[in-house]
Amino acid sequence: MVQQPSRQAICDLFVIGGGVNGCGIARDAAGRGLDVTLAEMNDLAGATSSASTKLFHGGLRYLEYFEFRLVRESLAERETLLTAMPHISWPMRFVLPYHKSMRFEGETPTSHLLKMIMPWMKGRRPAWLIRLGLFLYDHLGGRQLLPPTESVDLKNSPQGAPLADKFSKAYEYSDCWVDDSRLVALNARDAAARGAKIMLHTKVISAKRDGDLWVIETESAKDGARAIHRARMLVNAGGPWVGDILEGAIHSNSADRVRLVRGSHIVTRKLYDHDKCYFLQGQDGRIAFTIPYEQDFTLIGTTDEEHEGPSVKPVCTPAEQDYLLNFVNGYLKRQLTRDDIVWTYSGVRPLHDDGAKSATAATRDYVLKVDASGGAPLLNVFGGKITTYRRLAESALDEIAAFFPNLPGKWTAGVALPGGDFAVSEKPALTGQLRAEFPFLTEFWATRLMRAYGRDAWQILADATTPDQLGPDFGATLTGAEVRWLMRHEFARDAEDVVWRRSKLGLRMSAAEIAALEEWMKKAPDGTNAKVVAA
Ligand SMILES: Cc1cc2nc3c(=O)[nH]c(=O)nc-3n(C[C@H](O)[C@H](O)[C@H](O)COP(=O)(O)OP(=O)(O)OC[C@H]3O[C@@H](n4cnc5c(N)ncnc54)[C@H](O)[C@@H]3O)c2cc1C
Repeated sequence: MVQQPSRQAICDLFVIGGGVNGCGIARDAAGRGLDVTLAEMNDLAGATSSASTKLFHGGLRYLEYFEFRLVRESLAERETLLTAMPHISWPMRFVLPYHKSMRFEGETPTSHLLKMIMPWMKGRRPAWLIRLGLFLYDHLGGRQLLPPTESVDLKNSPQGAPLADKFSKAYEYSDCWVDDSRLVALNARDAAARGAKIMLHTKVISAKRDGDLWVIETESAKDGARAIHRARMLVNAGGPWVGDILEGAIHSNSADRVRLVRGSHIVTRKLYDHDKCYFLQGQDGRIAFTIPYEQDFTLIGTTDEEHEGPSVKPVCTPAEQDYLLNFVNGYLKRQLTRDDIVWTYSGVRPLHDDGAKSATAATRDYVLKVDASGGAPLLNVFGGKITTYRRLAESALDEIAAFFPNLPGKWTAGVALPGGDFAVSEKPALTGQLRAEFPFLTEFWATRLMRAYGRDAWQILADATTPDQLGPDFGATLTGAEVRWLMRHEFARDAEDVVWRRSKLGLRMSAAEIAALEEWMKKAPDGTNAKVVAA
């Protein structure tokens, strides 16, 4: 049966997509007083926004493509984001080992230029060029919290220990890490706290203009129930599905196209003892990272492969696994094999199709397109990065403001996400305080809670004095109290949501433990389709 909303149910903005861009726009718009509804067909961050490399970064390699606007905006944004979410993000140092055999990706503007002025380099990256790139990286976007680039003697430093003997010199620069799927959940939660209606497992199946309004039909994944919604403006933030939504649901003949580029990662047990990342340059001119991950693991990625279509589930193919293993084996003393891989994941970049030859070269910048030609306005979101999600939302609101006179101005830059209202430098002390007040927490447990929830860790632990007061122990320090919190405040509905997106405890929990969690969540008192309690 199709539910017809009453006249009062018309919202200002209807957002399709609960990835970082949809949730970022919903939060910003709700905070400016707009009546916002968001529909996500799966879980929050169920697609690309939980499958990234998880860096707030300027994108050192984009300098070779002369993408100065994107790099400058992203560099400046790192510290704004870090300040607003010091729990789920933190600074990281990146060690870039240098060897004279390192090559450019063949089609970058920089490599073309170098071929002309220094043909004898034959596509190799000279050290001075890397230094120049890092100088620009340090200075383009302003930098107050993050330390600058420095040279590292690999023969006499812990950074050199895991690397093959041929590497003696490296550069070390700063970027930041972020837990991408928690970023999305916290944006959705904050949007809800500011009045937005967040509908998960709700697919938009059609959207038609009716004069000044959009008439949007949704279908529930739970029971197939359909509903009609009316909105003054529609935002298509469908990520890899942005083109499908345009064609299939909206029946638009827009000329804009999305280019789907798959990127895969492998996860191994911790490869080295220090807490820094490596930025590795391959013989094919591409780059890859190794990143300390979830306290006991190392994350390695990524690949760049053309992807067939949004409905084809991205997986890290055996060929991609071997590619990544070979890539890092070119650097490491201890050679990795497939047996070292404990988990893989894969995501699809929804890039604006700028006609670039290779997947690696396609622009990572975002493009916003407004279509108001047929009546009620539509905003389509192409591309973008986790790093630029807040700026993208601000730019989207600039476009949206044209249709909602007297909208208040930008506000998100200085406002912390839930649980993140503390200074970046306070985190170690707060983690220590958490352990002091709840002495049953292990170091791993306290660190995990602080990195996931920040100050909200106190709400979750409440007045517990022993672990058994936190409800069932599901394994890997996951307790009933935490799961209940995730169901009540962060829209978690089933075990997958909890162990792969609200946390990464799936890396540590057994299949039987996850099944027990699933059973418990089905019966949880404040369980199914948990009502979100605005914090
Ligand atoms: C391998 C890889 C590595 C990356 N690394 C980084 C990085 O380190 N740093 C960085 O800044 N960026 C990175 N990115 C880029 C970043 O992850 C993406 O740009 C960003 O996540 C895109 O977010 P989105 O909201 O546009 O799309 P998505 O997260 O895919 O969200 C779109 C949502 O729309 C929903 N949807 C689609 N159709 C419908 C419908 N009809 N009804 C309802 N819902 C619908 C989908 O289910 C999906 O959840 C990386 C990307 C990849 C793939």
